[in-house]
Amino acid sequence: MAIKRSSKSLGTPVRRAVTSPGLRHVDIRIAHQMVPGESYLGWLCKNKACGRVIAIAVAQAGSKPAAAEPDQLAAIKCPHCGNEDLYRWSARTDHVYPAGSAGT
Ligand SMILES: [Zn+2]
Repeated sequence: MAIKRSSKSLGTPVRRAVTSPGLRHVDIRIAHQMVPGESYLGWLCKNKACGRVIAIAVAQAGSKPAAAEPDQLAAIKCPHCGNEDLYRWSARTDHVYPAGSAGT
């Protein structure tokens, strides 16, 4: 889903491109790659209306272990609601992907 941009934004500044240097590129799982009840390493969506798990895709074998890295920000688009936000790499933790979307 594309972020709508209105030419007339009152008060709210148009968000700049989040591809500034220093941002880390992170591959995330799409919703279909997540199994309810399983635990995934990642973040919870900052969109309070969503709040679901954003899971980091497992790195291919052979890539360097992610240890002792400097804290970086990653611009990540939520696979559930499409909200793009910055997440702190060091803040990633295990989250259980909740089962189903009952109701709503
Ligand atoms: Zn979300």
